[in-house]
This record gives sequence, structure tokens and C-alpha cells, in this order.
Amino acid sequence: MSETVAIIGSGPAGWTAAIYAARANLKPVVIEGAITEENRIKGTLPLGQLNLTTEVENFPGFPSGHLREYLGSALPEDRRPYWVIDNGPQPAHGVTGPELMELMRQQAINFGARIITDDVTTVDFSRRPFTLHTLENGPIVAHAVIVATGARANWLGLPSEEKYKNHGVSACAVCDGALPRFRGQALAVIGGGDSAVEEASYLAKFASTVYLIHRRDRLRASKIMEKRALENPRIVPVWNSSVAEVLGNDTDGVTGIRLASTTGGSEKTLDVVGMFLAIGHTPNTDFLKGAVELDEKGYIVWKKMARTNTSVEGVFAAGDVADSNYRQAITAAGSGCMSALDAERFLAAEGVH
Ligand code: NAP
Repeated sequence: MSETVAIIGSGPAGWTAAIYAARANLKPVVIEGAITEENRIKGTLPLGQLNLTTEVENFPGFPSGHLREYLGSALPEDRRPYWVIDNGPQPAHGVTGPELMELMRQQAINFGARIITDDVTTVDFSRRPFTLHTLENGPIVAHAVIVATGARANWLGLPSEEKYKNHGVSACAVCDGALPRFRGQALAVIGGGDSAVEEASYLAKFASTVYLIHRRDRLRASKIMEKRALENPRIVPVWNSSVAEVLGNDTDGVTGIRLASTTGGSEKTLDVVGMFLAIGHTPNTDFLKGAVELDEKGYIVWKKMARTNTSVEGVFAAGDVADSNYRQAITAAGSGCMSALDAERFLAAEGVH
């Protein structure tokens, strides 16, 4: 049996597409990603990048913390935040990324979206209905497809970085920063964008010092987040520097990093027990190679002005997988909505119900 519309991905774009498609009676199926160690290390587990962040202060509708009763009634018990279950203090103002994603997921379920916890490994977009091959659930056939697989964090690509992954090197401060090995220690965050200052601010809660290492002498982070980070006495910016090598040993993991100046030939070593990367993202489009038009960085190309159409009729793209420019939760959700409306019109024109 063919699905009417299949949505690949489970960040804000995927769930918003699912909510709109379900309300349009398109009975969407969401392939949310597999829960595997490989996806954990790559940062591509279900619920996307937002599930790897802390407070979300800029998603409209969550101004401050009176969420306890709402989360308690909106989510099934096994998916409620720990502080709601324990009746403990709310750890953050507003909403956190993981809470927001659980709420979106539940909202999609409430309107009838079905969920498959699996990865799409390859696709056949050469004929309709389209076929999506999965790791464990066999092929899924669908008349329309919305790709909302987002983007994952980048690595520097140094052999020494590879060697100490999971032994002090991480691309997710929120996932790994609270580990005992990092508490009260000096740490490094690499990058100069919002992710870097956010990760540095988060780590500063546990660490003795967080070196914020940036290859230029100016951050590109938003002003409010930059100010907050640079005013934090535990965050020490290190300008015009790039990582030449991660230092360490088999017993302790990371013990330091060797930095090269980006403006001269000098080098220096910093003693740190952790290095956290925050140097941008790569779109999750490996499974689409050759099936749909991608740009030179691997992002899906939107083929029509202000529409979510891709190069394949009936395949739509939403969120960070097609947007290297805005990359915000709210813009991803917006294009998720657009993709569902575009798919609905396509299916109506094709006479598929
Ligand atoms: P980003 O804005 O692309 O910043 C990446 C940073 O990494 C840049 O400072 C860049 O340096 C540096 N970089 C890139 N490649 C590097 C390399 N090989 N070696 C050393 N440094 C390298 O990425 P992001 O911070 O992940 O943010 C992505 C998007 O998400 C943005 O639109 C951001 O606004 C959004 N975001 C928002 C929030 C929030 O509002 N709460 C939080 C996180 C992210 P240069 O500056 O020299 O290019």
C-alpha cells in the first residue's frame, strides 16, 4: 500500500509538516530517524539539532516558565521532562529544545501522524510513487515526500581529533558537558557563532575555565548571546587561533590542545581536558545523492521562488536541509508548514487522496 505523504526527519520542519499534513487528512507517516550509536556520535538522532540544545529563548510562544502543568498534561508520562516527573524546580526559563521537540512530536501524533523510528538509507525518486529504503522496516512507498533531515555538526578533520572523540572531544556540549571528567576543569570550545557562545555559556556552569577559541578576532554570534558569553568571567576568548593538534594519552584522553596563530607563525599550548566543536553544520543528504539536486555544499536546492519544491516533482524539502542561510527553529517550522501545503496542492492536482 502506498502512503500519501512520507516525511523524512523529526526536527521542527518535519513535525510542523506532519501537523499540517495530518490536519489536511493526508495521513502522513514520519520516518523520525533510528536510535543508533552511529547516529548519536554523528549528532543525527531523532528530534534533531534542537534536541541537543538547552534553553530556546527565541521560539515565539514560550515567554517564561509556567510550563509544568502544560508539559505534564501534553506529554505521555514516559516522555515528560525529569523536572516535571520529580516535581523539582524548572531548570530554565521558557522552554528547552528537547521539551519543544517533544511537544511538537506529540502535537503531530495527536492529529494522527504515524511514526517510524528508523533511518532512510536510499531513495528511488525516478518514478512515482516514490520508494524509500529503510534500515530495518523495509521499503516505504509514497506519492509525495517531504525531506526535513536537517544538518549535523562539523568536525575539524584532524587525526588527533578523531583519536579522542568520546575521550574528551565532542561536538555537543549539552550531551556530554555534564560528564564527571569535565567538572571543575578547563575546557575549550572552538568556533565563533551562536552555537559556540551557547556551548561556552553552558559549559561555564560546570567548568573552571572555558577557552572560546576563534580563528578571527570577532565573533559572528548574535549580539545578545555574545555579550552574555563575554561578560562571563569563566569564559576566556582566545582570538586568531586555530587548533593544530589535540594532545592526550590513552589513560586520560584529552589533556590539552596545541594552537596555531592565524595571523602569524606562533603556537601555544592550552591545558584542557575537553574540546567542544561548534564550527557549523553539514546537511544530512548523503542518502539522496543523485536523486535530487543538491548545491555544492550538499544542501537541497529549492527550485521555485518562495516554494519548497525540489528538482523532483512531488518531492519537497523543508528546514535546514535546504536552508544554509537562516537555520533557525522558527524558519525551519515555517518551511515545514509550507512543504505540507505544497505537497497537499501537488497531491490534489494529481488526484491522490
Ligand atoms: P555558524 O554561524 O556557521 O558559525 C560557525 C563558526 O565556526 C564561525 O564562527 C566560523 O568561523 C567557525 N568555523 C567554521 N569552520 C571552521 C574551521 N574549520 N575551523 C575553525 N573555525 C571554523 O554556525 P553555528 O554557530 O552552528 O550557527 C548556525 C545557525 O544556527 C546560525 O544561524 C545561528 O544563528 C543558529 N543558532 C542559533 C542559536 C540561538 O539563537 N539560540 C543557537 C545556536 C545556533 P568564521 O566566523 O570565521 O566564519
